[in-house]
Amino acid sequence: MEVRFFGVRGGVPTPEAGKLRFGGNTSCVTVRAAGAPLVILDAGTGIRILGNELVRQHPAGGIEGVILLSHLHWDHIQGIPFFKPLFHPGNRFEFIGLRPVGTSLRCQLEGQQNYAYFPVDMSHMSAAKSFREVADESFQLGTLKVSCRLLNHPGGCLGWRLEADGAAVVYATDNEHTGPGPEEAVVELARGADLFIFDTNYTPEEYAAGRQGWGHSTWLQAVINARAAGVDRLILFHHDQDHNDDQLLEIEELACREFPRSLAAREGLRVVLNGRGTGPEPRCLIELPGLEA
Ligand SMILES: [Zn+2]
Ligand SMILES: [Zn+2]
Repeated sequence: MEVRFFGVRGGVPTPEAGKLRFGGNTSCVTVRAAGAPLVILDAGTGIRILGNELVRQHPAGGIEGVILLSHLHWDHIQGIPFFKPLFHPGNRFEFIGLRPVGTSLRCQLEGQQNYAYFPVDMSHMSAAKSFREVADESFQLGTLKVSCRLLNHPGGCLGWRLEADGAAVVYATDNEHTGPGPEEAVVELARGADLFIFDTNYTPEEYAAGRQGWGHSTWLQAVINARAAGVDRLILFHHDQDHNDDQLLEIEELACREFPRSLAAREGLRVVLNGRGTGPEPRCLIELPGLEA
């Protein structure tokens, strides 16, 4: 299984000097497994970069993907209008997200491209599109077993666990961890995972200084959950828009002191999950951007 990071930022994009080592695009991560469609976790502005890559690889269409949406806050959907593969009739995408109250996932997504907000509505996106609404449940996408759980976030949010070939990745962002101990729902979702991607938007000091109830967690809360769930690797994710590269390096170092197998997500990061007991390879093979072989 391969996991790639196209957007690692929370809130809004940060195209500023001093923030580009980690990256300025908002949430978008891909998961590829043999025998499964391309899975895209969230459609923040990072999905634009992914889309351009896919169009270069498949100029005649034929792309099949599933977009798993944690929730519909802007930093998780704002890349959709700029995702070029949606404009080719030979491509096919399924959007899967949290079942809303009193409306549909399709209506909510179309609303982002209402004429008041964007000049091109979703009906002009000629790829085949389908929409599936879920809550706490499990289902298959080819060989991938997908499970989702409700997280603690204003308006609701889904955490995802994807498993195939004896390996598991968990994507749990936009979640407010409360209390001093591990968080039961998150630990259950992440138990024994090879790669655990978690919301570390704030430092513990920032969280204590008036950010309670805003729906996000800290690196320390990530470490507490990672330890309790017995994961192999922790990825610090959904970096605050006001944290620069130096601050993120410091956060990464602090997390590593408590949980040495921590890494702050960077745009361009690639992780290959080999699973357990499959040979001499490490469970998670990390390729940092710019260091690929
Ligand atoms: Zn977010
Ligand atoms: Zn959110």
